[in-house]
Amino acid sequence: MSFISELKKRRTFAIISHPDAGKTTLTEKLLLFGGAIQTAGAVKSNKIKKTATSDFMEIEKQRGISVATSVMTFEYGGRKINILDTPGHKDFAEDTYRTLTAVDSVILVIDCVKGVEEQTERLMEVCRMRDTPVIVFVNKMDREGKDPFDLLDELEQKLSIKVRPITWPVNMGSDFKGVYHLLENRMNYFKVNKTKLEDDVKEIALDSPELDASVGVKDAAQLREDVEMIETIYDDFKEADYLAGSIAPVFFGSAVNSFGIKELLDSFCNISPEPISRNTSVRLVEPTENKFTGFVFKIHANIDPRHRDRIAFLRICSGKFERGKFYKHVRLGKDVRFSNPYMFMADSKNVVDEGFPGDVVGLYDTGNFKIGDTLTEGELMFFTGIPSFSPELFREVINTDPLKSKQLEKGVSQLAEEGVAQLFTMQPGNRKIIGTVGELQFEVIQHRLLHEYGASCRFESKPYSKACWITSKDSEKLNEFMRLKSNFIALDKDDNPVFLAETDWILRMNKENNPEVEFHTTSEFN
Ligand code: GDP
Repeated sequence: MSFISELKKRRTFAIISHPDAGKTTLTEKLLLFGGAIQTAGAVKSNKIKKTATSDFMEIEKQRGISVATSVMTFEYGGRKINILDTPGHKDFAEDTYRTLTAVDSVILVIDCVKGVEEQTERLMEVCRMRDTPVIVFVNKMDREGKDPFDLLDELEQKLSIKVRPITWPVNMGSDFKGVYHLLENRMNYFKVNKTKLEDDVKEIALDSPELDASVGVKDAAQLREDVEMIETIYDDFKEADYLAGSIAPVFFGSAVNSFGIKELLDSFCNISPEPISRNTSVRLVEPTENKFTGFVFKIHANIDPRHRDRIAFLRICSGKFERGKFYKHVRLGKDVRFSNPYMFMADSKNVVDEGFPGDVVGLYDTGNFKIGDTLTEGELMFFTGIPSFSPELFREVINTDPLKSKQLEKGVSQLAEEGVAQLFTMQPGNRKIIGTVGELQFEVIQHRLLHEYGASCRFESKPYSKACWITSKDSEKLNEFMRLKSNFIALDKDDNPVFLAETDWILRMNKENNPEVEFHTTSEFN
């Protein structure tokens, strides 16, 4: 197959949702019907049920054995589909944000009973920043949920995106009859635990008496009324609007019953974007370029303390990646090559000889990679759009075993490179401040420092609430500000200066009093 056909086959996306909406179940069903797994239950939930480290470590152990769960690949409808897994727990939201930088589109799962939940809003903000195309799947229609029109309104209001239903539910809960495909005039009749996606799907005109006969006069009348309403309220669906990230098509179904998934998957194969172009510090890179480029968006540590190696996940952006070939590691300025790059199937990983744009390869790493690192065939540029966001909790690392200070230093910096948390260094004394979005991250860091590096530490709370990256056109002014506020200035992992603000009010006052200094809420700015 030619390079271009390989490229055009690829679809790389992530499923996002608030925990419990049904992400794991949907992923599993997609893999099942894509033929990548044979039985349900093969996909491990990466959900943390009790907010406990032991629980997290247990899950990580399982995942460590099969890091395959980080990327899952299957073929369906002539496409090669790569699903990038995202952690369910909110304390690991940063990991999810970064994974979103490596996909070309997302499927958002909503629970029809709960509607749009808090974490969904935050994840969608990240998608909006990048105009990532979004398809919405409203799940659990076998339950008595909110009115579908209210759900659509809620989606539009809370997520600042316009929506357009593509399938529409006929009743719900115990009276759920199925979904009607609005563009293809097909009725998919609901059945508990479908084993074939095509089962009980019938082409049927909206005004056909067969519809009344099959779903009942009342529900048929309601469907006709709903469709009329949809056509009045919503514009016709245009693929270009979806690709531009301005309209999200909406599907209804029940993942656990494998219901409504065919419509979702078929549409996904038809409309979702093939690998898109990406920005670098120098220029826009097109996937069709024949020179290879890619970037690391995730680093997975080996939880086994005897094996310190890690796997760096590289998203291929352009050209063909080849096993054993030398590539330029731009940040380190050195040539590197990989003799055993991996690609992942649902429950296994295989050494591969080549990869194409959209693919994710796993590279064995002994400490050369940081999140965001770029590989090229020599061109000196790095991919942008992989920013760090301000953490919410800040704590200083205090060494509790003076004999192990080297190990602690190394452990903290390696965990920061992996993206487990953000590291800020403060003067005097090279003090290490760790920033996270959740409590659980601190527990994981402490656990891993002890078990993987033999270092022990405790954390001391810091009163900061926000980190702002600071720049100025006038370097004198920036230096003066940093000198005056030295108690609140730290350097991030790339040695960029950051102002640590205790409250929003303090941040505002500092902005007002220092108009020459620019404050940025993410690590990437123009
Ligand atoms: P995640 O946290 O988003 O990955 O959610 P899961 O896929 O683990 O699902 C959470 C719970 O919802 C599980 O108990 C599922 O069995 C259940 N669930 C998933 N899909 C459906 C559905 O369509 N209907 C009902 N009633 N329950 C569902």
